[in-house]
Amino acid sequence: MDREEKYGLLQKLVDEWENCERCGLCETRNSVVFGEGDPDAKVLIVGEAPGEDEDLDGNPFVGRSGELVDKFLRSFNSTRDDVFLTNAVGCRPTKDGKNRPPSAKEVEACKERLHRTIEIVDPLVILILGGTAAKALVKGVRSITSTANDPTIPRLTAITKGQCIDVKRTAFATFHPSYLLRHAEEVEGSPMHRAFEAWGKAFAVADTYEEIYWGKETPDRG
Ligand code: SF4
Repeated sequence: MDREEKYGLLQKLVDEWENCERCGLCETRNSVVFGEGDPDAKVLIVGEAPGEDEDLDGNPFVGRSGELVDKFLRSFNSTRDDVFLTNAVGCRPTKDGKNRPPSAKEVEACKERLHRTIEIVDPLVILILGGTAAKALVKGVRSITSTANDPTIPRLTAITKGQCIDVKRTAFATFHPSYLLRHAEEVEGSPMHRAFEAWGKAFAVADTYEEIYWGKETPDRG
């Protein structure tokens, strides 16, 4: 599928989900934050959920978290136009007017949107930011802390629902930018340092896979 076809399919998906009422988050949202970036991206980045800034803006990763994402992207000679950014859920979860993590039920309700997005973009590597997205895509992840703190930066297998069969995809998981903003020290072994390494590995593996897989029918890459 070329970029234009993927763009058309993503547009159709947006149209299908823009008035979604599959979970209670529809009651308080301003917009379904679907995703942003290159429909033909090598690296697809999945975060947790829109916060207040994203809900008002309509795009993922804006505000301070977005600035940090942009900084990471620049470190690997990339911009938002080179990747595809989305979240485990499309609508902002709130409690007493403040952001909160989505519940397992809300993640489950939005899973079809996430999996169909991944299926259309068909990235070479998925970069997972935070525990919510990790649990949504990778079996057996109990806490993001142990995965993200592992200095070997383990290659994970994300399983997404394809048209006929489940597809295994290579993934790396690290801390969510909002966590990193609260743990901003950049010394060896710090969360920021570990995150930088994980982003680097994801981009490096995507480059390697590009030579092997680009333009070929989706094989299992997990
Ligand atoms: S979070 Fe997902 S499932 Fe829930 S209302 Fe929004 S788009 Fe629909």
